[in-house]
Amino acid sequence: MHALRIWRIYNIANNMKKPQSIKIIGGGISGLSTALALKTKEIDYEIYEQNSEITYENVGLGISANIFPILKEWSLLDKTREIGAEIKNFHFVDQNLKYIKSFVMDKPPLSVNRRLFYDLLKDRLDKEKIHLNSQKTVAEFSQNEIVISADGINSTTRKKVYPQLNLRDSNQILWRGITQINLDHKFKNSYHDFVGNNLRFAIIHSGQNYYSWYIIKEKDKTENRTLDGEILKSYFKNYNPIVSEVIEKSKNIYFSEVFDISPNKRKNLNWFVSNNLMIGDAIHPTTPNMANGACLAMEDSYLLASLLADKKASTETIFTEFQKRRTKKINPVTNQSWWFGKMLHQKNGVMDYLLKIGIKTTPKCLFDSIYSNVLIETTKNNIVGNRADGRES
Ligand SMILES: Cc1cc2nc3c(=O)[nH]c(=O)nc-3n(C[C@H](O)[C@H](O)[C@H](O)COP(=O)(O)OP(=O)(O)OC[C@H]3O[C@@H](n4cnc5c(N)ncnc54)[C@H](O)[C@@H]3O)c2cc1C
Repeated sequence: MHALRIWRIYNIANNMKKPQSIKIIGGGISGLSTALALKTKEIDYEIYEQNSEITYENVGLGISANIFPILKEWSLLDKTREIGAEIKNFHFVDQNLKYIKSFVMDKPPLSVNRRLFYDLLKDRLDKEKIHLNSQKTVAEFSQNEIVISADGINSTTRKKVYPQLNLRDSNQILWRGITQINLDHKFKNSYHDFVGNNLRFAIIHSGQNYYSWYIIKEKDKTENRTLDGEILKSYFKNYNPIVSEVIEKSKNIYFSEVFDISPNKRKNLNWFVSNNLMIGDAIHPTTPNMANGACLAMEDSYLLASLLADKKASTETIFTEFQKRRTKKINPVTNQSWWFGKMLHQKNGVMDYLLKIGIKTTPKCLFDSIYSNVLIETTKNNIVGNRADGRES
């Protein structure tokens, strides 16, 4: 009896000494990259994903250059380069593929097949720490455990903590896919954004002879969630035939509605309650116009793990610091992405004409200035990171 009691006390003491693993709800890019960032800092983790596998659709993913140092630290940069394409040139074009404005990217992003990138992340993690078919809520964990809610734009955690915090509907819908096709040399390492007519189509080189594409359209009364390529092609019947060809040859087509959460609406709200923190789309979803939500999520993960590695700080201090730093980076990007998306869709013919004139006459430095918010690097030591142009932000 006495021996049993001693054994129990020994076990309790031992468990108290052992650093607890951090629990992550959600195996999307936020969850996977948080796990990898923690692993890099030798902090234990467990991921719980509701689906039966960790994977993503065959669609494009833009990775901005500010993420490269993070990928390098995770030993993933070379592999990411291998599976993707560097986007050296950005072009706004009209429906006839006539160039409205072109510029060379000073810090070229990478464009990859998202499914392949998720495989890279997943392969670096320990299989036994990934729990599939595991739909979780924060309440299922002990109050002493650190729980990271990386459960995406429809986050159960966020809805429970902030039931009044609604998604903002951009009134835009989106289709996308990846097509294996041999295109003219000018499409290699390039991003072609067909603007005008209250419609957007983009072709982005995403490695080898793969090109990712998307359509963004305003919702209208006749709108449906069609995945029928013929219907989608009909939107572009007066366009350069390359648009229809890319859609036609795409093996799969995926549909999304475009939402975010207005930074203004979450201005005074904490991203954490006690030991539970929300990250990624769970708390700061952004529209895809700056192609940056997943990059912001990876920065979240990197910073969070760096802060957690400081064993002396309390969880509250770490989470407060985390939110403060991330808000400064994320809010401008989210706002810009929202307004950029709105600006590129003009219903009125005159405004549409003016939009193209505006794009044509806007100096590159203005585009650079907008994009420089994206390029701010996140490091563990500074508040919002270093600006790409070397200025203090
Ligand atoms: C059309 C489109 C294009 C985009 N393009 C880009 C781009 O080019 N570059 C870029 O950086 N960003 C891009 N983004 C943004 C990016 O996709 C998101 O910001 C990113 O995927 C968010 O990742 P997440 O892990 O936070 O959420 P999610 O990807 O939604 O992952 C959440 C995960 O949690 C799981 N889950 C949910 N609830 C539970 C639960 N209770 N228990 C267990 N598991 C749960 C889900 O199954 C899911 O796997 C784009 C977004 C869209 C819509």
